[in-house]
Amino acid sequence: MFDLEEVIDKLSVLPRGFVTNLVVGFTWVTDKPELGPCFLWTRSLGNTKYGNYWYNDKNGAHKAAYIAFYGPYETGLVIDHLCNNRSCVNPLHLRATTQSENLRRRRKLSSIPSSGCIGVTRDRITGTWFAQFNQNGRSVFVGRFDDLEEACAKVKEVRGY
Ligand SMILES: [Zn+2]
Repeated sequence: MFDLEEVIDKLSVLPRGFVTNLVVGFTWVTDKPELGPCFLWTRSLGNTKYGNYWYNDKNGAHKAAYIAFYGPYETGLVIDHLCNNRSCVNPLHLRATTQSENLRRRRKLSSIPSSGCIGVTRDRITGTWFAQFNQNGRSVFVGRFDDLEEACAKVKEVRGY
């Protein structure tokens, strides 16, 4: 296991304040606690919901995080999220894989998070519910709630569905 400070330290080599754009401490996949917290990208997201960040002639905050932590990956490989949270840039949640393997794995997984409510995740540290969703390429923070039902209702209200 890596110390999170150590992971962030490795990411701090990335230019243009990469690490200042992260929020640490929220898990997306609560049934995989061994993954530890996601590092959510708080700046703009692209159409594909990956964080916008240019590095080494490629756009993708997760790709930059992967390279800063593990080094360059082979051409033709894609960076896969073990946590299924595309806006996550925690290198411990990333791996380089082939596109076909990535798709095969993705089909097996449900897109519904374990909170049962899309956009609501449990903050393992405080035990509260963290409501945030992506809309038009932007990350919208709704709030923190003690009550899951309240968090779900609020996120639906703000998002409009
Ligand atoms: Zn993650």
